[in-house]
Amino acid sequence: MENNLNQLIALSHKFGQDPTYVIAGGGNSSFKTDDKMWVKASGTSMANIDQDGFVCLDREKMKVVSQKKYSDNTASREQEVKEDLHQAILSTHGKRPSVEASMHEIIRYPFVMHTHPTLVNGVLCAKNAKATIDKVFGDEVVYVRYIDPGYVLFKEVKIALEQYRAAKNKEAKVIFLENHGVFVAADTCEEIEAIYANIEAVLEKHVEKLPGVDSARVSADLIALGNEIRANAGSGEQFIIADNSEISLLYTDNVDGFKEVAIPFTPDNIVYCKSNYLFLNRTKDLSEKLDSFVEKHDYPPKIIALKGKGIVAVEESIKSAQIVMDVFKDMMMVSYLTRFFGGPNPMTQEQIDFIDNWEVENYRRKMSKSS
Ligand SMILES: [Zn+2]
Repeated sequence: MENNLNQLIALSHKFGQDPTYVIAGGGNSSFKTDDKMWVKASGTSMANIDQDGFVCLDREKMKVVSQKKYSDNTASREQEVKEDLHQAILSTHGKRPSVEASMHEIIRYPFVMHTHPTLVNGVLCAKNAKATIDKVFGDEVVYVRYIDPGYVLFKEVKIALEQYRAAKNKEAKVIFLENHGVFVAADTCEEIEAIYANIEAVLEKHVEKLPGVDSARVSADLIALGNEIRANAGSGEQFIIADNSEISLLYTDNVDGFKEVAIPFTPDNIVYCKSNYLFLNRTKDLSEKLDSFVEKHDYPPKIIALKGKGIVAVEESIKSAQIVMDVFKDMMMVSYLTRFFGGPNPMTQEQIDFIDNWEVENYRRKMSKSS
């Protein structure tokens, strides 16, 4: 067991430290025996995870989640599922399992690595993603259409795995989730790496040269915009990260081009960058545009684009500003990659609203707990 967990830790470091697989502590990994499962704790990041970063769960007790009938109300249902999962915790360090833990449990392989790879999302966030996956990978993989995250997604994945099992008399090793990412499962960590390498090699054949992501020394215009944002900020400090890499310049060339990155592709995009972003023709428009943005959306923009100059991320700490920038740059790259797979297919307003409401609910719950 010890040895297996150490292998999982090494694999988690490898994927967790590579921003083309996960950003901002996203993704999760697990190892299981017949009766126990170790899964990444929520709030930990795979990049530097150690044994304490995993929660050990009783698999028998986790099966309740598959069998029980839960409330129809989303917020109460998610709370009930969470409570049932907590009943299954065997670890004593007090950490909670990742929300995606139930999905790991129903995958019948010892090792599971779930990530949000940029290249894979270039397909999964493109039009007709299912048709492309079918064409490229055939029926060896499982494809799950976009479903609101949480219990309903878990149920959909469960059904898809059962159908695969019935049709092919074996277990699926690859599960693609539309507008989200991929689960890869196998008997060994080496095989997981090999499967990921193969997915990448196959998809890369369809992709031509990509725009650069390294930001040069930022221009005086972006610095001026940063100063203007701080001047408009009112109370509370604002931390700003500016970027004028090739990809940022490509999507800020004009307002129509920016529309290709103006709607989120995945729930994670919303969690970190929110679902609306501000485009400015000139820095001097900031104050006026900021007012109407806040009036319309009820929050200040975390991403502001300046025509022809690049992008700035605005947050309350330098660390979170960097995360917002990393997530948005990944989102731009995903949008660019969709060009090779049929064009962008962002989330619908209804899907976005679900995440926005969920965020509000989570926040409320957090606040009510801490007060
Ligand atoms: Zn995920």
